[in-house]
Amino acid sequence: MTSDTFSFKMGSFQFTTIADGVSKRDFQSVADLFPDAPRPSFLKALKEEHANQQPLDWSMNCLFVQTRDHNILVDTGIGPREEGKSGQLMDRLKGISELSSVDTVIITHCHGDHIGGLVNAEGKLTFPNADYLMQDSEWEHWMGEEGVVEKANQEYAHTLRSKLHPIQERTDFFKGKKELLPGIWSVPAPGHTPGHIGLLFESEGQTLLDLSDTLHTRVQFTHPDWSPRFDTDGKKAAQTRREMLTIAAEEHHLTLFYHLAHPGLGTIQQKGEGFKWQPREGEH
Ligand SMILES: [Zn+2]
Repeated sequence: MTSDTFSFKMGSFQFTTIADGVSKRDFQSVADLFPDAPRPSFLKALKEEHANQQPLDWSMNCLFVQTRDHNILVDTGIGPREEGKSGQLMDRLKGISELSSVDTVIITHCHGDHIGGLVNAEGKLTFPNADYLMQDSEWEHWMGEEGVVEKANQEYAHTLRSKLHPIQERTDFFKGKKELLPGIWSVPAPGHTPGHIGLLFESEGQTLLDLSDTLHTRVQFTHPDWSPRFDTDGKKAAQTRREMLTIAAEEHHLTLFYHLAHPGLGTIQQKGEGFKWQPREGEH
């Protein structure tokens, strides 16, 4: 076990967060991702939230869940890359379990840093024994005839589709809030992408709420209305962010975010017009 993985038990569920990789970002480069936020206010809030310490960790926190009957992976990281660094998820997961032991892969949404690991460098399924779960509207957004990617970056669209085609036959497309597996519910969280979901895990009265890309940087706890440029619908994303953070605070869920510093776990309280993030004790 290294600082790139973090395991904990909750009821009958064994959770392990696995960092697929971490990039270091200075404040300016984070601010560049939020062109619609007023720059001076954004930088001031960012400095306060991080006690003026930069660069900050921009992580990719995948989640491995072992239940009595299933080995479940939530999102697959960036996967193999010809240029630059490939994702570390597979190597780190192998330290815990065989890739062939994963029987379910849940996809929160189809951005490249979440589905890149669906296939390996040879184009074969990384998890040969897995079935896949995805909200139907997310598939439709990227793969449907009316898919927005037709009009967007063709190369990006082509890469995404080459990752998604191989899983089509093995994917169960669901709609809305649904119990996907015993104790595991989808929580629709649209805005970042149309079919983006969170997940609520509950075992023996304890809960974990995985909000994935509902939020990308800690500044958005105090300023939930600020959306980054890669939120497909920034206004909808802001509305969803506020709703989800309110639920997390009111229902006292341990909460996980994909891009916060690994392990990306903490609790949320309402504070003034926004929220306060309390990273899980012992973490930073
Ligand atoms: Zn992401």
